[in-house]
Amino acid sequence: MKAAPFEYARAASIAEACELLAHHGDAAKLIAGGQSLVPMMAMRLVRPAWLIDINEIAALKFISLEKDAARTGACARQCVVERDDALAARVPLLRQALAWVGHVQTRNRGTLGGSLAHADPAAELPLAAQVLGARMVLRSAAGARTLEAGDFFAGPMASAARADECLEEIHWPVWPERRTGSAFTEISVRHGDFAMVAAAAQVALDGDGRCVRATFGLGGVGTTPLAFPEIAARLIGTRLDEAEVQDAASSAAEASEPGSDLHASAEYRRHLAGVLTARALRGAYKNAHEKAKAAS
Ligand SMILES: Cc1cc2nc3c(=O)[nH]c(=O)nc-3n(C[C@H](O)[C@H](O)[C@H](O)COP(=O)(O)OP(=O)(O)OC[C@H]3O[C@@H](n4cnc5c(N)ncnc54)[C@H](O)[C@@H]3O)c2cc1C
Repeated sequence: MKAAPFEYARAASIAEACELLAHHGDAAKLIAGGQSLVPMMAMRLVRPAWLIDINEIAALKFISLEKDAARTGACARQCVVERDDALAARVPLLRQALAWVGHVQTRNRGTLGGSLAHADPAAELPLAAQVLGARMVLRSAAGARTLEAGDFFAGPMASAARADECLEEIHWPVWPERRTGSAFTEISVRHGDFAMVAAAAQVALDGDGRCVRATFGLGGVGTTPLAFPEIAARLIGTRLDEAEVQDAASSAAEASEPGSDLHASAEYRRHLAGVLTARALRGAYKNAHEKAKAAS
């Protein structure tokens, strides 16, 4: 099928994109890499009367490293973010998640903001944002506001961004602890497909190998990506022994809310949630140890 007819405008600045959004309201959609929007338009799942192209806005493509956070423009391409060694050193989970997002070809066009705004509950970048507690800066003609990832993801394919708002930038927290490790893993039918279930974890250790900070979460088992701060808090002070890892994994699997579809039953997804949580936690712990060893 082909997309329904639409009008096209290329915005030269964030201000112009916001003006166009304010003018056209619900009838308009921003287009970034087009990797989700174009297939949806071709299948006529969405029929925007106006497409507002934000690809030429240089101010949406930056990567900036600060003390406590890395800031990325919403239109930074996934391939550019993936190859940025300095960013990967500060926010390693981002590169680990990106390795699972689609294919080289889709990452060449796809943007961070497009994936986050698309808000697929099984997508890797929304899960990384949820687990790390990323903050989204939304801009409209009326001004800017910032939402925590937990407030930004509102449901399946739904964010809390209003129709007149453009996701402008994302703040990724940088953990200061020297012994910080992270891991991302998922199960899909083929590599590059959307995950049936995905898991991400990040932990920081003290010099004695005990956990001083932990976060982890799951994708594909709820209406939004899920993080489990209360369960993660139970890992503090432990060395993530197998019993502690299994306890966290089974608690997270129990707290998840998977559905059934063509690819997997809810029961199988819940099973994967436990298995993958354990893998991600073990992987993050091992990664933290390896980094500490390499640095000493
Ligand atoms: C073959 C294939 C495989 C794929 N596999 C995966 C996968 O494994 N994992 C995965 O996560 N994705 C996958 N995708 C989907 C896709 O790669 C990402 O979701 C995509 O990169 C979205 O970014 P984009 O820049 O292309 O967004 P677009 O398609 O341009 O836009 C997506 C949505 O976000 C909105 N939007 C875009 N930018 C902004 C902004 N700055 N502010 C507000 N709203 C905005 C658009 O209006 C639209 O609603 C796959 C796609 C294909 C074609």
